[in-house]
Amino acid sequence: MKSNYELASRNYDLGTETAFTVLAKANELASKGQNIINLGIGQPDFKTPGHIVEAGIKALRDGHHGYTQSTGIPNLREAVSNDIKKRYNQNISPDQIMIVPGGKVIIFFSAMLMGEKNKEILYPNPGFPIYESAINYSGARSIPYQLKEDKGFSFSAEDILSKINTNTSLIIINSPANPTGGVVPKSELEKLVVGLKEYPNVVLMSDEIYDQFCFGENNFTSMLQFPELRERLIILNGWSKTYAMTGWRLGYGIFPSKLYEIAEKLAVNIHSCVNSSAQYAALEALNGPQNCVSEMNNHFKRRANLMYTKLNEINGFSCQKPNGAFYCFPNITGTGKKSTEIQNILLDDLGVATVSGTSFGEYGEGYIRLSCANSDSAIEEAISRIKDFFN
Ligand code: PLP
Repeated sequence: MKSNYELASRNYDLGTETAFTVLAKANELASKGQNIINLGIGQPDFKTPGHIVEAGIKALRDGHHGYTQSTGIPNLREAVSNDIKKRYNQNISPDQIMIVPGGKVIIFFSAMLMGEKNKEILYPNPGFPIYESAINYSGARSIPYQLKEDKGFSFSAEDILSKINTNTSLIIINSPANPTGGVVPKSELEKLVVGLKEYPNVVLMSDEIYDQFCFGENNFTSMLQFPELRERLIILNGWSKTYAMTGWRLGYGIFPSKLYEIAEKLAVNIHSCVNSSAQYAALEALNGPQNCVSEMNNHFKRRANLMYTKLNEINGFSCQKPNGAFYCFPNITGTGKKSTEIQNILLDDLGVATVSGTSFGEYGEGYIRLSCANSDSAIEEAISRIKDFFN
């Protein structure tokens, strides 16, 4: 049968996450017998802690097989609210909390809620590639603000504020940051909050998915610690990174009531609810012992130190010490090669999967991202392969 249809044009504006392409290629090479070390994908290499897995299994055995409330089971929303009270001493009603299938969903929701033709949305660059993709898909103009190496990959509040105009509807921020490992100092966040007083029409979405992985000199500050912003603040967070649960697809958003209602409609239209047993596992994650989180944090801190120190021994590489998340983002301009070229050499010739900085936006040229989510010995082996090649 002949077919001659045209795709709706907005689909051409969708971007992607190259980390998944690199992962597929790395798996393919590994299946052909190559010894591949994967420093490409951004997920903890640890298993989900046993007590959380057991809670998920028990939920299935107990018959939690049906749809739940589209915003998540009430106990879980309450547990998130208690967790926020415990960690940040802030009161967030469970009615503002929405459980979603992965933190990523909140990016898309935010873009759908605030983006349309003639609107502008500011986002970090280099940054998580889904920001730019979701903004473009919404029809809004994506306006990057640059994260600079000489500022520890923090944003400058002044720079963000200077990019706001009457069309700006949303600003996205991310700290601790993917791919740079940068953490924005509290003083910069305070400047942003003060500056935003002049722009009451602008909503802020803060992606805090790495909030528990912060180990540098800048302590993490949540935007929830600025109650004056609450009426126009969206928070993205979840279980994927904190509890090594990327494949369970669990995240949450916090919305002001005006946006919550519509976000709930989006949830009903798109996914109905999150997998029921996964929500019970998430409940156990929050209510159960928390030593698994601090243990992972300690591992990432040690590996980040190891990785950035070793990267600095490679000719043509220079790497800042990451302050959070689990990535190193070395500057590779000293090699005289472009980021994608380095990514390809490392994978094809050396068997080390990394992600080119350009996968995180135009300002990522000159950098590559390496994930610390692998064992110390794998990190040492990967970096010695790279060192042998370049030195
Ligand atoms: N935000 C950032 C900055 C991320 O790095 C990621 C995942 O890599 C996400 C959001 C999405 O998390 P999830 O797997 O929970 O959808």
